[in-house]
Amino acid sequence: MGDGTLKSLQRLSDLAINGAPPAFSTPVHVGRPSVGNKEEFLRRLDDILERRWFTNDGPYVREFEKRIAEFLGVKHCIAVANGTLALEIAIRALGLHGEVIVPSYTFIATAHALWWQGITPVFADIDPATHNLDPAAVRQMITPRTTGIIGVHLWGRAAPVRELQKIADEHGLALLFDAAHAFGCSYGTDLIGRFGRLEIFSFHATKFFSSFEGGAITTNDDELADAMRLMRNFGFSGYDNVIYPGTNGKLTEVCAAMGLTNLDAVDGFIANNRDAYLAYKAAFSDLKFVTMLDYNESEKNNYQYCVIEISPDCGVRRDQIVEALHAENILARRYFWPGCHRMNPYRDLFPHAGLVLPNTSDVAERVVVLPGGSALPLNAATVIADVIRVLESERGDPKDG
Ligand SMILES: *Cc1c(COP(=O)(O)O)cnc(C)c1O
Repeated sequence: MGDGTLKSLQRLSDLAINGAPPAFSTPVHVGRPSVGNKEEFLRRLDDILERRWFTNDGPYVREFEKRIAEFLGVKHCIAVANGTLALEIAIRALGLHGEVIVPSYTFIATAHALWWQGITPVFADIDPATHNLDPAAVRQMITPRTTGIIGVHLWGRAAPVRELQKIADEHGLALLFDAAHAFGCSYGTDLIGRFGRLEIFSFHATKFFSSFEGGAITTNDDELADAMRLMRNFGFSGYDNVIYPGTNGKLTEVCAAMGLTNLDAVDGFIANNRDAYLAYKAAFSDLKFVTMLDYNESEKNNYQYCVIEISPDCGVRRDQIVEALHAENILARRYFWPGCHRMNPYRDLFPHAGLVLPNTSDVAERVVVLPGGSALPLNAATVIADVIRVLESERGDPKDG
């Protein structure tokens, strides 16, 4: 009780970074998992132990796949052990090779899943307004070696699906989407999960809803779905019959049980996330140098990410703000900084990639992701706005009376 209201934040000396006590006594995290009905999970766990069916296409995995496919309105859902394996299996099933165009402003797994299979990720720039791939930039990066495009629905906001599909069709490229952020989000009125040749999801603990670790591939393509099911299970078709070089991508029953439990609770997660998002919007409305990334209320959103951009005109640098918030025990984060192209191996291999990625570099320098969801203390949005306001009004001058 009273946490975050212990002090007033009016001058620099009120900030924990300058020696005052922190606003929160325990850390407030980004990406703290939402949890559905604990009793339901324990009941399922008990079932699993009684049944002694722990993995290998068990009943909870099948139920999870069926429920996700129904929820998203897509024909096939293939559950896998995590989102990265979902990408790797998808990329292999589509027969991608050579070069594949991806954004650099994404989680590193989007690029690594390609590189891991000897494919070169070619980074295209983003639209600074949406943080998603810019179709014109994608066109510029096409070469005779290009075989595919991976669009990422960053922050759960749909990539430019129609424009990317047009490019893919014109050039005979496979289009797939990394929808790791976008469960429950729509493009127009259609839920994400049915676009391109396939889409992949992550149910990692930090994502909108979790199965501890987990992922899925969704598609309306029967043949692709069959191929990916084989790949997920070493290429086994029946007991002794291996017909394909596969991997072990299986989701366990325990993870599926957690996934089912949380899938039952997604409406509540969305409501909590939206409350946090709206609290921030209200708290930041008078902060001139802070822009909150908007969710389009005419589409479906999961409101998982509360993202702000610090304007270059702000007197305080983004990293100073993050540092000051950390001192208050608010663990706000830079995200996808400094961009995949500036992480290895890509940084050493393609040292000049940044020349065609000006928007990626700008956005990566401006973004802060704030804690959201049910774990957000009631007054955290006000505290964060106050910290930024104090820093800004004093222009970061360390001396204060
Ligand atoms: C989390 C994430 C992944 C990887 O998912 P895991 O389940 O953690 O392997 C891939 N792409 C993006 C955009 C992600 O955020």
